[in-house]
Amino acid sequence: MTAAILRKGWCPSLLQPMESGDGWLVRIKPRAASMNASAVRELAEAASRYGNGQIDLTARANLQVRGLSPASAEAFAAIALAHGLAASEPGVEHIRNVMASPLGPDDASACFDSHAVAGAIEDMLASEMALRALPGKFGVLVDGGGVLPLAGVRADIMVRSAGDRIAVWLDGSDLACICGSAQVPGVVCKLARAFLALGRKDVERPRRMGDLVVRVGGEAVFAAADLETVILAERMHPARTPPVGFTAYSESGEQGAYGAGLPFGQIDARTLAALADLAERHGDGSLRTTPWRVLVFAGVKAAEAEALGDALAALGLIIDAGDARLAIQACVGAPACRNASVQTRADAAKFAASAAMHGLMVHISGCEKSCAYRGTADITLIGRNGRYDLVRDGRAGDPPSMTGLTLDQAISAMKERRP
Ligand code: SF4
Repeated sequence: MTAAILRKGWCPSLLQPMESGDGWLVRIKPRAASMNASAVRELAEAASRYGNGQIDLTARANLQVRGLSPASAEAFAAIALAHGLAASEPGVEHIRNVMASPLGPDDASACFDSHAVAGAIEDMLASEMALRALPGKFGVLVDGGGVLPLAGVRADIMVRSAGDRIAVWLDGSDLACICGSAQVPGVVCKLARAFLALGRKDVERPRRMGDLVVRVGGEAVFAAADLETVILAERMHPARTPPVGFTAYSESGEQGAYGAGLPFGQIDARTLAALADLAERHGDGSLRTTPWRVLVFAGVKAAEAEALGDALAALGLIIDAGDARLAIQACVGAPACRNASVQTRADAAKFAASAAMHGLMVHISGCEKSCAYRGTADITLIGRNGRYDLVRDGRAGDPPSMTGLTLDQAISAMKERRP
């Protein structure tokens, strides 16, 4: 790693750190949403030794390790690479953005093995030199369905079930290419190449597939990729509450997955290491990352779910689906982010405790950049000069209906919004 790639404002990866208010941060992108317990322990130990021990689970199911220095980021990266948590080539790691539904082959009710397909797409991305030109935020989603589908989650290219086959959609288009699992990497490759080729014709290159689809239409992208399509409304499972607690794999209910919610997506290194121990004691020895700020234990016997839940609750993790914190999206905010003038997570905790939530979905963003969440929310609060602007039924960037609110005023406004 050289100083040349330690840049501000960069979309970070393990090998390309980004500076923030609490030091440099790196991003770990678990392959096929999975990490084994020994890798998790090493990661946690290195996050403590080389960083400030604070780790975020992002909306793209990645882990962000905070509080590093340029020198310690390099030492941290060496450990992560040794445990297979990243590609060794920066150009590959930068574009290796493949999110998979968490259970993969463990879920017999899934349409296909999302982990195998995601892994094959990652291998394709590593071998196709032309795709190194993809933007760092460009990503692929692989959703096998089953008991923990990637409900309510979107990506530039989306691979989901379509009956007994697989459909590949583009963000913003209702056209899909139908194929078998072996063809998926090739289809994704053609669509990514088409994105780059069509984007080059535009003076202002699109950064995301949705932008390109708005400009030229999905049909033009599939045509440039030389792929046949069918009109097929995307079969995205409706958004659900984050899957905390026990979810049985089948009706027999003997074995399943257990979701542990991270309050506002944050966890410290010591707690993460404790989760690795619990994964070995109560599950199959792995942790699965999800885009819902939830870490999933797989292969948990129903008879052990209660003991696991008790241990997780004692560690401060969320195991109750009704916990108000699950309905709040909050970025890291001040002081960890220099763009923030408000302490988003501390304020989010006060909101959750205020009884103002009542079924509302809330997004608290330190600034308009909206790192934690891109979608709409019942209430969106955007920090500005130490106060909040409030958007109802919209997203950061929409015109606010109230501005310059203190925390107490924002809580009062939320109470008025309650049904
Ligand atoms: S949304 Fe703004 S304040 Fe929050 S983490 Fe991103 S840049 Fe920082």
